[in-house]
Amino acid sequence: MIIDGDINQFFRNFFRDGGAQAFLLVGDGGETENLLMRYLACYDKSFCKKCEACQSESFLGARVYEGESLKIEDAREIQFAANQTALYGSKIFRIKSGYLAPDAQTTLLKTIEEPHPETYFVISLASDASLSLPLLSRLTVFKKSKQDEKAEISKFKLNLEDIGALAQNRDEAEEVFRKIEAWMEPKIRTLNTDSAMLFLGFAEDYFEIKKRFFERTYSPKMLLEHLALSKHYIE
Ligand SMILES: [Zn+2]
Repeated sequence: MIIDGDINQFFRNFFRDGGAQAFLLVGDGGETENLLMRYLACYDKSFCKKCEACQSESFLGARVYEGESLKIEDAREIQFAANQTALYGSKIFRIKSGYLAPDAQTTLLKTIEEPHPETYFVISLASDASLSLPLLSRLTVFKKSKQDEKAEISKFKLNLEDIGALAQNRDEAEEVFRKIEAWMEPKIRTLNTDSAMLFLGFAEDYFEIKKRFFERTYSPKMLLEHLALSKHYIE
């Protein structure tokens, strides 16, 4: 996901379906992270400015993991805490370690695969290069990017004829979901009343397909074909 400009509006649109619970911020100066935290903490998920979380100076219910690296012990602690029911409001795990140990990543992956409601994971890293592909594929990524990458993403096409080959390779199929999210983001910001309904229909389809893909309840080929048709319809 690539961000600049009107982040507030972006969050409001993006979370309308309540889908994502685990996030990765790459190369963020803290600005996006802060907004995301405020958004997730709000009882109303709206930057309402009225609820207890919005009025608080600090982030209630947030646990911060900082330092050189996130170790397996930290990941186990997160796993344990994430499985406890929150007393009130959102529970947010904020991971700002420079490096995530491979075994910690495996535990983290298990934890974020089936999160409790109102439980969120916000990981900030300078680069996503050290993350395993399975973990990366389950994170909603916010990444600052250059103009040329942006132009390339906006032209992203998912062609029906490519799907047979894509579906053979799970990594490549997972990459499709990342590209679709990056492609959706600038679209969300330019919605008007006519295009919004169509787009929301697509977004609903998209999150349902993504969920089934990662749950492995349907064949990747079938899901990607559905996604390609759905995307074609709004282009
Ligand atoms: Zn609020």
